[in-house]
Amino acid sequence: MLGMYRKPILLVIVVTVLPTVVLLIISYFQAIAYAKGNLEGIIKIATVKTDGLLEDADAILHRSKVDLQNADTQTSVKILQRQIYNDFRFREAGIINTKGLLTLSSLGVMNAPIPISPIKAQFDPRNPDLQILGLGRSQIMQEQSIVFMLQGSGKIGSIYLLVDPVVLTSFLEAIPDLDLGSNGFIAYIASDERLLSKIGSLPPNIYSGLQNPSFNTLQVTKLTRNGSITIVGEISRKWVLRYWLQELLVGTPLTVLISGVLSYLFIHQMRKVNTLDYELKRGLAQNEFEIYYQPIIDLNTKQCVGSEALLRWHHPQRGLINPSLFIPIAEETGLIVPMTEWLLEKVIQDQAILEPLFPYLYTSVNLSPTQLNTDDVDRLIQILKKANNHDKAPITFEITENKLIEEQLQVVQDAIARLKLWGARFAIDDFGTGYSNIAYLQSLNIDQLKLDQLFIKGLEYGNQMPQLVDSLIDFGDRVGLTIVAEGIETELQYQYLKARRVRYGQGWLFSRALPFAEFEQFLQTQAP
Ligand code: C2E
Ligand code: MG
Ligand code: MG
Repeated sequence: MLGMYRKPILLVIVVTVLPTVVLLIISYFQAIAYAKGNLEGIIKIATVKTDGLLEDADAILHRSKVDLQNADTQTSVKILQRQIYNDFRFREAGIINTKGLLTLSSLGVMNAPIPISPIKAQFDPRNPDLQILGLGRSQIMQEQSIVFMLQGSGKIGSIYLLVDPVVLTSFLEAIPDLDLGSNGFIAYIASDERLLSKIGSLPPNIYSGLQNPSFNTLQVTKLTRNGSITIVGEISRKWVLRYWLQELLVGTPLTVLISGVLSYLFIHQMRKVNTLDYELKRGLAQNEFEIYYQPIIDLNTKQCVGSEALLRWHHPQRGLINPSLFIPIAEETGLIVPMTEWLLEKVIQDQAILEPLFPYLYTSVNLSPTQLNTDDVDRLIQILKKANNHDKAPITFEITENKLIEEQLQVVQDAIARLKLWGARFAIDDFGTGYSNIAYLQSLNIDQLKLDQLFIKGLEYGNQMPQLVDSLIDFGDRVGLTIVAEGIETELQYQYLKARRVRYGQGWLFSRALPFAEFEQFLQTQAP
């Protein structure tokens, strides 16, 4: 029993947990994509700015190269000053002679030319393009600067330009919320892998990481147009976390909605599965029904003359279920139709087994009044036709009195007449509980009245019941119908009915309803 409740709870957990997990995963990857997209945007701006710087430096150095061609010392200083004096990015421009010594710069003239290694060591005099030589100083400008150099002409070995490294990263400070966290960074790296400028904290393995950045490092790498500077950035987990939270905030109401809808659908489905009508259908398909036969006794000779086929349901969880519980639902849902058809076919098979020894036995089959329409009767006839033994072992259809009178008289009459053509007989079940009168019963052309057990039970008590039973028996006699008394439990009841020449009876005094095998045994003990 508990299992039935555990299952829906489990399902509800699944339908609430599953969308949540999906939300968490999707929003996480979304957050990573956002963070990466943002970083990419920033690096793109950095690249454009750096390209601009490289172009400007290139232009300054090329212009200086031309202008310095035949200039004297003082003019040279002025030329260099003019090139850079109103651009804060450039700290110093200067000349290095063919021997690699610094002679003059925008900051003044050297009394004696001084060496300028290690910058000189990296300079390639055969390369005619702008070269970036990492960080260095000029001995006049003592602060670490990015060194740009271009091959000179004549006495001039090369022209250099010193750039404040902060220039590359200063614009980043203007970006709101650029919180790189503890492990985020943006770095500018020269083609010889020297670090030019950075913000944030660089990981020790930055260069190896550059070769194969993984998805998870959240790294973005871009080259400047001439390929001389690589800009690499990585954002901290903090960014991702922030975006993730934002995504969750947006996604949660939707997830709750989806969970709610799924839960509702699941519970709805579970309810349906747990309801009796669904179970009935399943039970019928899985052969969980069995027919029990209750012997019908000739009260005079105490011999078994027939039986009533009563349905029993062996439910896998609920055990044996009595028909009073499921027949009303089967009638409501129309399942009673296939159920009765199945029962009738089975009854006919069982009868065929008993036929050689007990050819006189009849079987009562309960029929729902809703099954009296043409189509359903057609199918019942098909079954009777197939059996082709109606003259030997007859079927008696029982219809409950109080349900029968709700049906249209013409429909009932037609159904009875048609089924009788195939050897069927008819009985009014639970007789006495309804309000049928003699004229009505006569118009139906029925054969039996089954006296409801309510009246038989009443015989035990000294009230009005015996008179009522007498009048019902009298009624039956007058219409000329066989009477079958239901629910005979005691000897007293039996004797009373026998004395009033009631022909047949059934009840626990003789036997309960029995599975087919036991019914067969019961008949054996009866055999004369
Ligand atoms: P019913 O047709 O009036 O069947 C007689 C009922 O009385 C049966 O109950 C039977 O087991 C019970 N009974 C028999 N002798 C005694 C007795 O001495 N004492 C007591 N207390 N009860 C006795 P059951 O099998 O539970 O069936 C209940 C009702 O369900 C039936 O009443 C019948 O109306 C309906 N039913 C059973 N099988 C079918 C079926 O295949 N189709 C339809 N449409 N209805 C069915
Ligand atoms: Mg009955
Ligand atoms: Mg009855």
